[in-house]
Amino acid sequence: MVTDQTVGLSWDDRFRDFDARDRRKGKKASAGGPGKVEEILGLETVGELLTWYPRRYLDLDAVDSVHELVAGEQASVVVEVVGATVHTYQDKRTGKRRFRTEVETRLAEASLWMTFFDPYESMAKDRVEKLHRGRRVVASGRAEQNRFKKQRWELIQPFIDEAETGFSLLPVYKVGGALTADEVRKVVRPVLDIVTDVPERIPTWLRDEHGLLDAATAIRWIHRPEDRRQVGAATKRLKFDEALVTQVAFALRRREQAEVAAEPRTGRDGGAFDAFDARMPFDLTAGQRAVEEEILADLARPHPMRRLLQGEVGSGKTVVSLRAMLRVVDSGGQAALLAPTEVLAQQHHRSLTRMLGDLAKAGELGADDAATKVALLTGSMPAAARRAVLLEIASGEAGIVIGTHALLEDVVQFADLGLVVVDEQHRFGVEQRAALAAKGAGRTPHELVMTATPIPRTVAMTVFGDLETSSLTELPAGRSPIQTTVVPLADQPAWFDRVWARVREEVAKGHQVYVVCPRISGDDKDDDEVEPPLDEEERKGPPLAAVEEVAPALEEGPLAGLRVGVLHGRMAPEAKDATMQAFAAGDVDVLVSTTVIEVGVDVGNATAMVLLDADRFGISQLHQLRGRVGRGGHPGLCLLVTGARAGSGARTRLDAVASTTDGFRLAELDLELRREGDVLGSRQSGARGGLQLLSVVKDGDVIEAARAAAARLVDEDPVLEGSPALRREVERLLRSDMAEYLDKA
Ligand code: ADP
Ligand code: MG
Repeated sequence: MVTDQTVGLSWDDRFRDFDARDRRKGKKASAGGPGKVEEILGLETVGELLTWYPRRYLDLDAVDSVHELVAGEQASVVVEVVGATVHTYQDKRTGKRRFRTEVETRLAEASLWMTFFDPYESMAKDRVEKLHRGRRVVASGRAEQNRFKKQRWELIQPFIDEAETGFSLLPVYKVGGALTADEVRKVVRPVLDIVTDVPERIPTWLRDEHGLLDAATAIRWIHRPEDRRQVGAATKRLKFDEALVTQVAFALRRREQAEVAAEPRTGRDGGAFDAFDARMPFDLTAGQRAVEEEILADLARPHPMRRLLQGEVGSGKTVVSLRAMLRVVDSGGQAALLAPTEVLAQQHHRSLTRMLGDLAKAGELGADDAATKVALLTGSMPAAARRAVLLEIASGEAGIVIGTHALLEDVVQFADLGLVVVDEQHRFGVEQRAALAAKGAGRTPHELVMTATPIPRTVAMTVFGDLETSSLTELPAGRSPIQTTVVPLADQPAWFDRVWARVREEVAKGHQVYVVCPRISGDDKDDDEVEPPLDEEERKGPPLAAVEEVAPALEEGPLAGLRVGVLHGRMAPEAKDATMQAFAAGDVDVLVSTTVIEVGVDVGNATAMVLLDADRFGISQLHQLRGRVGRGGHPGLCLLVTGARAGSGARTRLDAVASTTDGFRLAELDLELRREGDVLGSRQSGARGGLQLLSVVKDGDVIEAARAAAARLVDEDPVLEGSPALRREVERLLRSDMAEYLDKA
């Protein structure tokens, strides 16, 4: 019976202050179990505790006799302890004394043994004390047959838990430090029994439409399921919850943005856009035309475009963005192209100027009437040149301005900034893009963000939820296939020589080759723009390849007689530019570099790429890098040289890259191999950030459904008056770290 002292707990109460048992006695809770859960997991309120969902469930019905055990496989059983003994032995490697505890238990009339190994006697003693005769426990671990006594089955170092009757699924919680799943369960259960107000964030009509449980039932079933069906139904409902909150936040953002004013840029007849159209050396692909139409329609609206353009390296994004820039120039505005590196900014400047021809020669003799000026601003420019460029930008003389971070400085003032194009979005932070957008002199410029790292649609919807997305999925005709091969030095050391022989063959055919290393010099602590490795695998073998060591070694050794150039991020900008120009002109046969060549670099005669210590690069990065070869109509070759052993995570990644050139497929694989947290940022995958059950990898359909529902909800009820619980959660999300994450869009 419920008395006034056991009245329920509210969702926002601190569960630590209301330990159910103590409350019945009319006193505040001690720090005990709840305190530990709060400290270790960082959960404070009842709501936070109850949205700390189990990660999995142990199926206690699965094995109910010793005969059902399978050697080498995990098993969970409910057993009764018969007795325990501790044996000492000497660790062969360290010579230290160690402790082995053997526990005999009963499982359906037969004996089942548990074996534990401990470094300290106190730990072993502790076990023996806990596993006293007659205690019923749940044990789960790997089953093995004893090597000497074949009849004897054992669980090796199993996980032990309190056994309870009536429930065949035991929830297992993520724990940390000195906290066990059992302790979490002990705190969750009483709270679950007396919580009174689980907030309902999904309107009834929407629940009905998608066949979703109500919130209170879902919370109860996720923590205390009677069977798998309940787990399934609860999970379905709670995933939708997570997706809906995020998508409503995005829908509100989009609505807000739709109210910001921007200058429509519709171009004009007979302007630079038309003139460029007439002299383009190729036709746009159908995909490019479709994307262009979307962009031009956006530019014509009185609200800022916020569009993400994704497409593989070489899919023709730059051409499309140039045409958008010309449209803005024709409307009397300016366009800025923000590039992540100096090398890339310079290259964009060269190639755009070349593509535009006399359309880029405003003010010069014989220039086209519609011509504009293309300015380049980088950090390393001499003061006088820099002043001149700043003036061209401020006066509006430069219709197209290309630059690096230098464009973001305060001194850079535009006459009328109408469009910001950000190349390779992932290299820029939120503040940086915001700084550039703020240069619109009171008016918000349109924004086009380009990325060559294909993003699966579900991620785009979750991470870039308030950007419209366009994708270029085909490569322009005439692109040659790239053959990618893994060169596993761990298994085939002799292949190393073969790699350099292959490089010589390419050069003998008149082609050029890239050699990419993860480091600049041998004593580098940090790599030059290399993504951190996805997992911390122990790395054996020689130190990582470094540009400054590899280049001379190749010149004196296997590539003697070839012209070898060097490029990395620590070189002076003029030196970098000179090297790139020499490579582009064919004056360098082999370019040894770091990943500075990753983005945008375009040398058609380069046909092969050797990636040293390829396991140090991420999937997307490898895919990007190899996109540098096979661009000029010659088939491309990419050799992924690695010391990683067959079967390792690193090799799996490399094999994946070798197996397909489909960037979208690789982006998905990349996602599958990463933990969810790496995709969304670690905080976002925790209880507080909102995404616990929802997987951006696997729950695309849920995300889509939630996105549609969110749009409808926000359309019909923009301030969410009818869904206060939802509104509260969205507000909490927007206030939290997630706000930053939403802004990354
Ligand atoms: P991205 O920026 O996506 O890497 P680019 O716009 O730089 O791609 O295009 C890569 C190369 O393909 C460039 O040399 C460009 O001139 C060429 N290109 C772009 N679109 C087409 C097309 N429709 N037909 C033929 N070549 C194209
Ligand atoms: Mg590009």
